[in-house]
Formats: sequence, structure tokens, C-alpha cells
Amino acid sequence: MISLDRLYWTLFLAANMVGQSRYAFRPTRRIAADRDRAVRRIVLHAFRHVPYYRDTIRALGLGPDDFRSADDLSKPPLLDPSSLQKTPQIFCATNIDARRCMLLKTSGSSGVGRTVRVDAAALFRNAAHGERERSLMTEAIRKRHGYREAVIVLRPDVAESSTPRVQRFLRDNAYFPKGIEVDRLYIDATESPETYLPRLNGFAPDILQAYGSSLDELMDHVTATAADFHRPRVMYFHSDAVAPRTRETLAALGIPVFSTYEACEALKIGFECEVHHGYHVNIDTYPLRIVDRDGRTVPAGETGHVVVSNLSNWAMVLLTYDLGDRAKWIREPCPCGRTLPRLDLVEGSAIDSIRLPTGKTVNPSAIYQMFVGDDAIREHQLVHVSPSRIRLLLVVPRPADRGPCSARVQQALRTLFADAATTEVLFVDRIPLTDGGKKRNFVPLGTT
Ligand SMILES: [Zn+2]
Repeated sequence: MISLDRLYWTLFLAANMVGQSRYAFRPTRRIAADRDRAVRRIVLHAFRHVPYYRDTIRALGLGPDDFRSADDLSKPPLLDPSSLQKTPQIFCATNIDARRCMLLKTSGSSGVGRTVRVDAAALFRNAAHGERERSLMTEAIRKRHGYREAVIVLRPDVAESSTPRVQRFLRDNAYFPKGIEVDRLYIDATESPETYLPRLNGFAPDILQAYGSSLDELMDHVTATAADFHRPRVMYFHSDAVAPRTRETLAALGIPVFSTYEACEALKIGFECEVHHGYHVNIDTYPLRIVDRDGRTVPAGETGHVVVSNLSNWAMVLLTYDLGDRAKWIREPCPCGRTLPRLDLVEGSAIDSIRLPTGKTVNPSAIYQMFVGDDAIREHQLVHVSPSRIRLLLVVPRPADRGPCSARVQQALRTLFADAATTEVLFVDRIPLTDGGKKRNFVPLGTT
């Protein structure tokens, strides 16, 4: 029997997909008009139905009419993951039935666990907007529909894992005719490439989607062992970056690779185009500001914190939300012709200094300098375990290199920390990923 609800969402998705593959090329003023209309609508909604905004806008002596464009989003104070973690309910709309929403859980690069409530319209709109980057993929594989996609993600079978859950939600709530639906294979990111490669080859995906670090691991394995490898026509990654060596390997194999910028608080923020420089930001839905420590907007081209407003999700309204990432705007127009502005994300973002009980501070980047040119070390992660204890995890693939490497690194750590902390070096097979699939180089105190 046909469900009216599913029919509604099927039509909603179809309607929202119209024009999306060319949206990024629209005139800037049209995109700005869409964005500002969405700002006015969500602020009015938030003022009426979201406790935090009703109180905050009133406390500022303002009303919904004072929010006419994205510039006005600088009026409310900045939010960050800890505000969301402490009192999530004050950001939720009282007029939207929580049972019809999806909960996305994340710890992300900040390491602060939090839950984001997303409504069905936001999820379907997000799926439709995916057409902007999907058009790059489908061009590369020369198939619009019915392709095979392998997805390497953390714990795909566990209820918390976002990517498969969102896919399942869409499938369960709308009709996807056979031949249009994407055939997907999920692989757990904690599995080693040696174990999953036969399965991946058997599935023969057109597209491979993964975390950046998972692609590194896969391509390192394929290069080192010359294992059989079915070449997908295109790859894309998110959550963390791929190493330059992986970009080179894929270029040599003729496999184009793209990246997307995503977060649970703002799903599809941006995507990389065929120019491979920065992310085109979907500013009609996720207007961004780059701000300094005091929340002031910095001039284009200067690096600062990424503050996003999600104009799509009405179930939990998050405006001027500090994602914990650092980036700068690329001022030049993109040679690809897309008008959506480009963001240059600083990898290994939001790194704080390590503060020790003696008062000494050490910048983690000083530690990264120790590895420059050290070919034996493939990956590393510095963990501030307890106030005066530092642990360094190292991935050194060749056992013979571990002894000399350990001596070098121990010596460098002693020089850096002197008597202010005890340090230890551990060799591991892989660096653990955060819940959001990010591989962090530095884990600050209190976030393990
Ligand atoms: Zn471009």
C-alpha cells in the first residue's frame, strides 16, 4: 500500500532537487537572495518556537524584523559545542514532534560529545543539495543513477553511526524506484584493508566514500603489498584530510578524488570541485563567518574560527555556531565558474597550547616539527593524558625502525617538556578515530 507520508517526502525530494546540479553556478545576487530569505524565515520561527532564541533576541532588545540578511546573524552571541552539550533542549523547537526527527551524535574535532536533532525536511533538503557535489561524481563515473558506492565508516551497524542512518532514514521515508537507488556496501573503518579488500573488490564500486585517513590506510596497503585492487572511478572523503602521498597515488592511478566539508550541526557545508582548491560553501543554507577570538569578523583572506548558521534545520536551531575549525576565505573566483565562495580549511584545526601544572606551555606544532622529514614515522597522535603526563602514539610500519625512532623521539620530547611532564612513546598499528571519524593529531586534556 502506498503511504501518503512517503509519497509526500518523495515529491518534496524531487521538488528540492530541481536545479541543484547547476545551483553553484547561479549569479551571486540570486544565491544571496535565497540565503537572506532563509535567514528571515528561520529567525521568525526561532523567535516563536525556540526558547533560546526567544530569550536571546528579546534580551538584545531586538525582534525578528531586525534580522533581514545574513549580516544580521552577527547579532546573537556565538555558540559552541559545549553550549549544545550542556542544554540541548533550549535550542529545540517546541512545535516540531521529536519522534519525527533523527538524532545525530558526534564528538567531532572538539572532542565534546553532543547530540543534534534534525527534522525530516532538513534531511531531505540536504539529500537534494547533495546533487551539487554528486554531479561532479556522476560526471566522473558517467552514470546518473544505479551506481555502486562503497562507504568506509566507523561502526556502520551501530545505531549511532550517522552516514548509514541518514541513508536508511531517506530510504524508509521516501520511494526510490529501482534503478535509481544507489547500491551501497558499508565497511567498518576499524577493519584493516587486508581484511575488507576482497569484499570491496567483489563489490566493484563505481564510487568509494571514506574518511581521509581511511583512504590513506587503504592506498598505503595497496601500494605496499601490490594487492589486487578494483579501481573505483572516483573517490571522495570527509572528516579528516588525505595525506599528499595519497593524492599522488590516486593521480597516478587516474582516480579523481574530491572532499566534502560536513558536520552534524550543519550537514553539507561545502564541497571540493575539479580545481581541487578549497571548498565551495553552500552559503544559501549554511552561511559562514570567519571570526577572531572575540567573535569579530576578520577580513577575507585572514584565518580565523569558522562560525556557521544552519538555516535548514528547524527542529534544533543553531545560528552563529563555532564549529571548532579554522579557515580563511579564498578571495579569487574559482576557475571552475561556480559562484559559491571557496573556503580554505586549516587542517588540524583549533589546536590549543598544552598547559602544564608548572606553568610551562608547549605548542603541539613544536612536536609536529620533530617528524618533518622522518620517513620512518607514518602517523602520530599526541595525547595529554593527565595534567603532567603526555603520551605520543606513533605508527611506524617497519619494526626495525622502531628502536632508533623511539630513541630520537624520546630525546626530543625530553627537550621540549624538560621536567614539566612525564612523557611516553607507544607504537600502535593505527591511530584511533574520534566518533565523527576524524583523526586528530592532538587530543587535549579531558577529551579522552
Ligand atoms: Zn571550483
